[in-house]
Amino acid sequence: MPAILIDGRAVAKDWKEKAAVRAQEWVLKGITPHLAVVLVGEDAASQVYVRNKENACRKAAIRSTVIRLAADCTQQALEQTVRELNADASVHGILVQLPLPKHLDESRVLALIDPDKDVDGFHAMNSGRLMNGQRGFVPCTPLGVMKLLEAYNISVQGKHAVVIGRSNIVGKPMAMLLLGANATVTICHSRTQDLPAITCQADILVAAVGKAGFVTADMVKPGAAVIDVGINRTENGLAGDVAPEVADVAGWLTPVPGGVGQMTIAMLLSNTLDAVQMHGI
Ligand code: NAD
Repeated sequence: MPAILIDGRAVAKDWKEKAAVRAQEWVLKGITPHLAVVLVGEDAASQVYVRNKENACRKAAIRSTVIRLAADCTQQALEQTVRELNADASVHGILVQLPLPKHLDESRVLALIDPDKDVDGFHAMNSGRLMNGQRGFVPCTPLGVMKLLEAYNISVQGKHAVVIGRSNIVGKPMAMLLLGANATVTICHSRTQDLPAITCQADILVAAVGKAGFVTADMVKPGAAVIDVGINRTENGLAGDVAPEVADVAGWLTPVPGGVGQMTIAMLLSNTLDAVQMHGI
């Protein structure tokens, strides 16, 4: 039987609607939720992502401000922008669109964001909170994956979850969230030996590699939930990290597009409203 396709669009729509209701409640109390996005340079993909974030905010009645800095802006100018946003009481959430141009020090910039406005959850304070099982901002993409698993009643507790990828943005926080939900977690990466032997044991397999069609059917345990985080631009359009034939083996599968990607923005709205709650009370 082919895999159940996880409809990220539908689940994200529910979350966006919930966000719109929450935002409206704040507006009625005289507080307009406000997300500030810092975009440096002209990277085409980043421009699209930022435009999508602006549109989603507009639909949810969340104010968004995009601060555009030139590709050759200095570290000092970028840091000054973040400091001003930290100090601006009307701004609840701050996001610096990544990647930054090569001459800028990404980790220094992320470390400057007020952890209580860090709606992307990339500040070390928030990764530490996640590691310690404390409340904090959780990176939107792995958070969205957890919400998809919940929406489809895919049980995590006691299951073997294998995450391919160990980035700070996806792989590591994904592993922490699955661990927090009582899965037995294995993290695989570019130096992992005999990857298929490990992925074949996964009840839940998360692919966050960035290589189109990387996970093939022979790497998947029959009936597993396969979550495809990858977004790869190919000559045939967007493709995930999971090869299409995996649908014949898996129990559940997230499509690309229409899977995890939809959840990322929905979680950004949700995190922004959590930030308002933190500041507004
Ligand atoms: P990254 O390049 O930072 O990390 C990729 C990871 O894959 C690394 O940890 C690396 O060790 C691992 N890897 C590379 N080759 C491997 C191999 N042969 N075997 C095993 N592991 C290997 O990328 P990232 O930022 O974590 O993003 C991963 C993918 O997810 C990309 O396609 C990205 O576009 C996508 N992404 C999607 C969303 C979304 O909203 N859906 C959000 C963020 C990232």
